[in-house]
Amino acid sequence: MGVPARRHLVFLAGAGVFAFSVFLIFQSLAQLRTTLHPEVYLQRLSLIFAALMFPILTTWWRFKWIGVNILMIFLMIPLVFFVVSVTKIPVFFWVFPVYAILMLVLYRTEYQFENQLSMILIEEEKLQDEINNLEVVFKAKGEGISTFFEKYSTYYNLRKLAEELTMSLSWVELAQKTVDRAMDFIPRGDYAKMTLARSDERNLPVVASRRMRPVGRWTAKQGDLFDFWCIKNRKRLIVMDTQDDFRFALRENEKKDNLRSLIVAPIFFENRVSGTLAIHASRPNVFTYDDLRLLDAIATLASSAISNAMLYEKTEQLAIKDSLTGLFVRRYFYERLKEEHRRALLNQKTMSLIMCDLDHFKECNDRFGHQGGDLMLVQLAEILGQSLKNALIARYGGEEFAILLPETTKAEAFKIAEGLRKAVETTPFHIRREKVGMTVSAGVSNLPDDTLDIELLVHKADQALYKAKREGRNKVCVSTS
Ligand code: GH3
Ligand code: MG
Ligand code: MG
Repeated sequence: MGVPARRHLVFLAGAGVFAFSVFLIFQSLAQLRTTLHPEVYLQRLSLIFAALMFPILTTWWRFKWIGVNILMIFLMIPLVFFVVSVTKIPVFFWVFPVYAILMLVLYRTEYQFENQLSMILIEEEKLQDEINNLEVVFKAKGEGISTFFEKYSTYYNLRKLAEELTMSLSWVELAQKTVDRAMDFIPRGDYAKMTLARSDERNLPVVASRRMRPVGRWTAKQGDLFDFWCIKNRKRLIVMDTQDDFRFALRENEKKDNLRSLIVAPIFFENRVSGTLAIHASRPNVFTYDDLRLLDAIATLASSAISNAMLYEKTEQLAIKDSLTGLFVRRYFYERLKEEHRRALLNQKTMSLIMCDLDHFKECNDRFGHQGGDLMLVQLAEILGQSLKNALIARYGGEEFAILLPETTKAEAFKIAEGLRKAVETTPFHIRREKVGMTVSAGVSNLPDDTLDIELLVHKADQALYKAKREGRNKVCVSTS
C-alpha cells in the first residue's frame, strides 16, 4: 500500500473515532441539559470545549514542535480528569485516543509534506545547477561568438588590404598604405614605419611612416637596432619593455623614453629579408602576441605586393631605359615625341629637336676597344644629363643621341646645342687613366618653323646633323626649311 493510501486510511479511522466521540459527548450533553441549571450547564459546556479545543488548536498550529505536543498531553491529562469529575461524563476519556489519532494523522501529513518539500528543494537545486551550467555554456558560446566575430573582422580587413594592395603599382604608395593599415589594425601603437633596404644592405631607410599621437619625438630616417635584429634573425620581434629586455642591453644614452614597447615583422623581397614593418609605443607592455601575428600577416601581404611593384618598376625601366647609359630608348622616346607633338599642335606651342653624334667614334673604338667606347658613351650621357634639365634625352642609335625640348624656339635650341657642344669639347673623357678629348656634332630642327610633321621633324634634325658633319664636325647646324 502506498503512502497516500495509508494516510487516507489513518485519517478516515481518526475521523471516525473523532466523530463517534463527538456523538457520545453530545448525547451526554443532551442528558445534562435536562437535569442542570442553564448557568451550570454553560459552565460545563465551556469546560468541555476548552478540554477538546485547546489541545487540538495548539497541536494544529504547533504540530511541528513535538515537545509542545508532549507538554500538551501532560496538561490535557489532569484537565480531562477534572472535566470528567465535574461533568460526570466518562466519555471525555475518548479525547486521548482522538488526540493520539489526530497527532498521528498530522505527523504523517507533516512527514509527507517534508518529504515533498525536500524533493522539491532537491529538484530546485538540480534546476539551479542546470541553469548555472547553461549560463556557463552560454557565456562560453558568447565568448566563442565574439572571438569568431573578431577573427572574421580581422580576416575581412586583411582581405580588404590584400585587395587594396593590388590597386597600386607604385611600391612607395604600397608602403604608405601598408603602414596606414597596420596603424588602423593595431591602434594602440603611437608610431608605425616601414624600412626597406633597396640596394645597399647596410642602409635601411624609412620609406613610409605614420604617427598616431604627438608623444615624444620620432625623427628616424633609418632603421634602428630592432629592425636590424629582425632582418638578421629573419623573424618577427616583440619587445615588451625596451629598458628591460636582455636581448637589447641598451646603454644609458640609447634608452629613449619615447620607445618603450614595439613589434617588428620582416618584409621579404625575392626570398630574402630586405625590410621591416614596425609599430612603436611610448608605454611599456602595449602589444600582445596577437598583435604581432597580425602585423606579421600584414607584412607578408605587403611583401608580395611590394616585390611585385618593384619588379614591375624594374621591367618597366628595362623596357624604356637603355641599360648602358640609363637614357631612354628610341622606341619610348618616339612615343613621348608623338605625345609632345600632339600637345604642341593642340596648344599651338613650339618645340625643338636636337640630334647629336660623337665625332670619329669609330677611331675611339679602334683605339680603346668596344668597352672603352662604351665608357665614353656613359660619360657623354652624364654630360647630357647635367647640361639639360628639362629635356627628354634618348640614346637614338649606337652613338647618336636625340634631345626633345618642349616649348623651346629654334634660337633657344641652337643655344642649348651650342652649350652642349662646348661642354663636350671642354670636358676630358677618362678611359683607363687616359684623358681623351671628344667632340660632338648636332643638328637642330623646330616645330612649327621647319615642319608640322613629326617624321619630317626628325628627318630635318638628321639632315642638319649631317650638314654639321660635312662642315667639319664639332659644330651645330640648324635645319633650313
Ligand atoms: P662620324 O664623325 O662621321 O660620326 O664618325 P664615326 O666614326 O662616329 O662614324 P659612325 O657614326 O658612322 O660610326 C658609329 C660607330 O659607333 C660604329 C660602331 O662601331 C660604333 N658603335 C655603335 N654603337 C656602339 C656601342 O654601343 N658601343 C661602342 N663601343 N661602339 C658603338
Ligand atoms: Mg659618329
Ligand atoms: Mg653615328
